[in-house]
Amino acid sequence: MNAVSQVVPTEFDDAQQTRIKRIFADQQARALALRSSNTIERLAKLRALRTAILSRQEEIYQACFADFKKPATEVDLTEITPVLAEIKHCEKNLRQWMRPQRVMPNMLMFGTKTRIRHEPKGSALIISPWNYPFNLTLMPLVSAVAAGCTAMIKPSELTPHCSALICEIIREVFVEQEVAVIEGGAETSTALLALPFEHIFFTGSPAVGKIVMTAAAKHLASVTLELGGKSPVVIDESVDIVKAAKSVMWGKFTNCGQTCIAPDYVLVHKTVKSRFLKECEKVLKQAYGKEPSKSPDYARMVNTHHFERVKSLIAQALDSGAKLFCGGDTDAAENFIAPTLLCDVPIDCDLMREEIFGPVLPAIEFSTLDEVIAHINAGPKPLALYVYTKNPRHAEQLITQTSAGGSCINQCVVQYLHINAPFGGVGNSGIGNSHGLWGFKAFSHERTVVENKFSMSHWLAPPYTDFVRRMLAITMASFK
Ligand code: NAD
Repeated sequence: MNAVSQVVPTEFDDAQQTRIKRIFADQQARALALRSSNTIERLAKLRALRTAILSRQEEIYQACFADFKKPATEVDLTEITPVLAEIKHCEKNLRQWMRPQRVMPNMLMFGTKTRIRHEPKGSALIISPWNYPFNLTLMPLVSAVAAGCTAMIKPSELTPHCSALICEIIREVFVEQEVAVIEGGAETSTALLALPFEHIFFTGSPAVGKIVMTAAAKHLASVTLELGGKSPVVIDESVDIVKAAKSVMWGKFTNCGQTCIAPDYVLVHKTVKSRFLKECEKVLKQAYGKEPSKSPDYARMVNTHHFERVKSLIAQALDSGAKLFCGGDTDAAENFIAPTLLCDVPIDCDLMREEIFGPVLPAIEFSTLDEVIAHINAGPKPLALYVYTKNPRHAEQLITQTSAGGSCINQCVVQYLHINAPFGGVGNSGIGNSHGLWGFKAFSHERTVVENKFSMSHWLAPPYTDFVRRMLAITMASFK
């Protein structure tokens, strides 16, 4: 596959600042008109987006390859398919989601008719990261369009080929007054965050998530924060080693380990540690061959900064006493780091403190589940927690006694693909949910509309006669 030509991200300057303000004002005006848009109009836009994505499939492969040598099959699986599935899901369900929901009156509301209406929040800002550039930009956009919002999108500057292509696709499908892409880095984000958006959907690191939430607070904008963290995998003594190794290696090393919900580290029972690691090594050889640098199915670190960051995490762990189980090869010219397994990693080294976000999996042995639970609860709440066990009581104990954005039992990563379930973090790993109905709700305000039919509430107004007091006494008695 040929690399596409060099793309230079847009510089931030006065002209960019003026453009941002103009588009924002135009979108605010358009957002008012979009409030009364119907299902047919919204779905027509989503279908046009689907057509544009499908017609540019080859260009999407090329852009992802140019940015970090992402294999085409992984592009299909993790960039294109989830977006198409999200659009299909909206086609099936949007009419029902948009329908006002009738709620039954309680005693105080007797004589009223009440509906919950989903109104578009209005002008939305979507800021996305680089690690799944198409998926994490277009998935929230699908939800924003389904909800009837306008959107300004700021994709990541670290994957410029993907950002440029997203920009082209959006221009082809939407008028700028409805959806616009603003390319650039942190300065551009900062200029956007100064504007009074009505919802901000941010995907990225917890550190920048805090900046986004602080900016949102100035305008009391609502936020969805899809953040990261250290997602543990627990392998207990009853595990099916062959299946667990295959699953964990896939979840960890897809996208070169640059996945927010990838297993960050493994807590493995001491009686199965050695067998599990040997099986993992075997799976890696089957997946990427003896020389992963030559495998067409293995991506690269996104840039030199992240290459050096992960390389130094490995070096520092080895200096602190960790052992290299397999992998460890690097090639700076290619930002290549081989799939790497480390064992006996001290829990106070940076590898065990920072989100790794690269192809390195530390394994730490444990003796009891209580140790595992104490370790997980001592850190920030992770985005995901995975349990591999044949013992349902172990799985239940781990899930009940910890907190995480989402979990899988004897699986990993696939919770992201479940369109009928919410996807999101908790605490340090995020606020709010996305996907399907939850994505639609993120960009919608649930507005209660009470219509008076034959309510007797006016009888309760002053002067507070005996009748009023008797009515209240009857009502209060009914709550006992
Ligand atoms: P990042 O936070 O560095 O950047 C994300 C976006 O924020 C980019 O568009 C970037 O330009 C912008 N940004 C950077 N600095 C900023 C600043 N000071 N002010 C305003 N905006 C700024 O994250 P990243 O490196 O692109 O992505 C990796 C992180 O994202 C990891 O922590 C990963 O776990 C997380 N992530 C989470 C999810 C999820 O769904 N929860 C998905 C993917 C990635």
